Amino acid sequence: MPWNLHTTPEQWMRMKSKQKCGICGTELEVLFKSDPRDADTWFWMQCDHCDEPVCGKCSDIDKDGNRECTDCYQDKVFRSMKEESYGKETEG
Ligand SMILES: [Zn+2]
Ligand SMILES: [Zn+2]
Repeated sequence: MPWNLHTTPEQWMRMKSKQKCGICGTELEVLFKSDPRDADTWFWMQCDHCDEPVCGKCSDIDKDGNRECTDCYQDKVFRSMKEESYGKETEG
């Protein structure tokens, strides 16, 4: 999020009150507002691994019950594939 001296608190609030999915760019709906006047207390759906805001289509719940975006999922699959091939090399 860009934050500079020229950004007024009102502009900052407006920026924060709109979140977009970090993957497909879909505008996200606020899940929960603990204080409707304070955007700092609002919650959006986000990836528990990289903290990026994500929509339901671009994320899934992993086996530990955490939300995981497709980026993190692909990263994990790629890493486990690499580890597997390394393992085979050292075993052989
Ligand atoms: Zn998305
Ligand atoms: Zn993620």
